[in-house]
Amino acid sequence: MSELSDLYQVILLEHNHKPRNFRKLDNPDRTADGFNPLCGDRISLYLKVNDGIIADVGFQGTGCAISRASASMMTQSIKGKSVAQAEELFQGFRKMLTEPGAPTNEELLGDLEMLSGVVQFPVRIKCAILAWHTLRAALEGKEVASTE
Ligand code: ZN
Repeated sequence: MSELSDLYQVILLEHNHKPRNFRKLDNPDRTADGFNPLCGDRISLYLKVNDGIIADVGFQGTGCAISRASASMMTQSIKGKSVAQAEELFQGFRKMLTEPGAPTNEELLGDLEMLSGVVQFPVRIKCAILAWHTLRAALEGKEVASTE
């Protein structure tokens, strides 16, 4: 982790220490579980979707600091957004991690861009993207996410 910028580390550690929306929702409309066998990260995601808007989101799980911080940041970034916007964020985030050097849409990604440092650690990319694959599974009505 020593190669990561200080800012990146501070934000990541802060989200890991105090993850946002780290709770199970009472009556979720959609749920999905994600598992990253490479690292052992597990996440359960809960969504409330009203008229195509992600009205509430919560997650629980165990895993490394990156998976937890990424899930925390994801819940912050999708809450209140439409399902279409969440899909756009997913695409932008995945592109940032899987196509290093490609232009990133900073306006779209906002704070999520801080996770771009993960590309230096290929084994960690699945940790960072797990929550997003789980989100997509939940939105598509699947109960288990694939990290492929
Ligand atoms: Zn991990």
